[in-house]
Amino acid sequence: MANPIERTTCALHQGVAAPVECENGPAMDERNSQDQPGDILKRTQKSQIGNLVTLQTHGKAATRDGAPVIELTDGKELCDLSKNPTLVRSSQLQLSKSKFVAGIQCLKRLYLQVHSPDLAAVLDEGTEAILSQGQEVGLLALRAFPHGVLVQSNHDELDEALTQTQRLIADPRIPAIFEATFRYQGVLVRVDILERHSPKGWRLIEVKSTTAVKDYHLFDVAIQRHVVSGCGIDVAAACLMHLSRDYVYDGQEYRIRKLFKIEDVTKEIRQINRDLPTLLQDQWKALNRKSPPNIEPGPQCEDPVGCEFYDQCHETLPADHVSCLPRISQTKIAALVDQGISLISEIPNDFPLGALARRACDAVQGGDTWFSGDLRQELRRLKYPLSFMDFETLYPAIPRYAGMCPYDHIPFQWSVHRQHRPGEPLEHFEFLARGDSDPRRGFIESLCRAARGKGHIVVYNRSFEASRLAELAAWLPDYAGQVEQIRERLSR
Ligand code: SF4
Repeated sequence: MANPIERTTCALHQGVAAPVECENGPAMDERNSQDQPGDILKRTQKSQIGNLVTLQTHGKAATRDGAPVIELTDGKELCDLSKNPTLVRSSQLQLSKSKFVAGIQCLKRLYLQVHSPDLAAVLDEGTEAILSQGQEVGLLALRAFPHGVLVQSNHDELDEALTQTQRLIADPRIPAIFEATFRYQGVLVRVDILERHSPKGWRLIEVKSTTAVKDYHLFDVAIQRHVVSGCGIDVAAACLMHLSRDYVYDGQEYRIRKLFKIEDVTKEIRQINRDLPTLLQDQWKALNRKSPPNIEPGPQCEDPVGCEFYDQCHETLPADHVSCLPRISQTKIAALVDQGISLISEIPNDFPLGALARRACDAVQGGDTWFSGDLRQELRRLKYPLSFMDFETLYPAIPRYAGMCPYDHIPFQWSVHRQHRPGEPLEHFEFLARGDSDPRRGFIESLCRAARGKGHIVVYNRSFEASRLAELAAWLPDYAGQVEQIRERLSR
């Protein structure tokens, strides 16, 4: 008997070009080479499982994307594997939830992930840190389910994971399963948390390190629900578990149920559920191609996440390419490129641009540096000594120190360059936290010392530095007065 967690339904019989080996063997015998599109066919279909069984199939010869198929009288299709080698090759392929989500972003991205993963950009330190932070959040979330059991198998022991999942589901003493593993019609998913909801029903929970549900998360949950339900499990609710910005860490122990929010998105994924057969069919079709789908680069290359194949699809652009204009939208770039305009110097005067982009365009075209009309007045307003101040922060998903919320900034470095009179050399002061201990007190104490006195403080982004100062004053009220004085001296 087939493993109930791994249903390999013959997708050809369902009109879905899934990559699984059909357990009934070839879906149809060879189509006659004289068959013409539109011919009414009556074919013999053989099963190679157990005793030889013969079925009658009625349909109409047709082609789909150049491949021979038979349209069945009930509107479904049978593909002729013998004449469609790409579908034969697909029997080696498998989708995962992350690949499915990549395919929702861009079918070419999915294709390259599967067939040419070596073309992907090497992960930089920032991306690796984000991934490892996601893992940290995922592990912490499991603590909300104290008696949950982890499916231990590694990724190269999936059969063991499928069997172990089945065993845990059958054991009513297990309240939750972590990394429960399912395979259905060639799609494999490992569910972050599968919580026993009632004697029969389960709550499927996907953990995210964001502080809200994002639209693209819904595809992630929908594909899991599809696979788990396809394996015969009653998914009573499909949920997303994410961090709560309202949670304030007391510096002692994380209160996991408050640190996370669980949102039921069962209703929100209904439409995606309805679209899934088509979405999956599109993905299998893309994967079965001999070359990547011909997809033009566009907004999807950076939304919802930066594509790791960006460099494969984008030429190195000249420094004055239209996309270099500040705050120009993808729509405007596309409109210019459609008109054969790729350089800023070629943009007509009457092409509608936002104020900032137009200003930059005029400056490039005129070869002049642009100065704000208010600049002279602003500079005259500044009172010496001038202090040029800059902060560096990190903002971890999980709050590290008392009084902090998820993604609060931890200021760990400041730099101040001071000039007493115009033209005089700059004095430099700085602070850099070392080690893992809370740097906030050391940061603000040293900054208040260095910034003592009068004169304006010049910053690149006033709202950023002002917000960090306000947060420091709230965490360390004994410095609130001095911090307020620094804030009042910030230049506009
Ligand atoms: S760079 Fe853009 S077009 Fe190319 S694969 Fe990625 S998302 Fe698709």
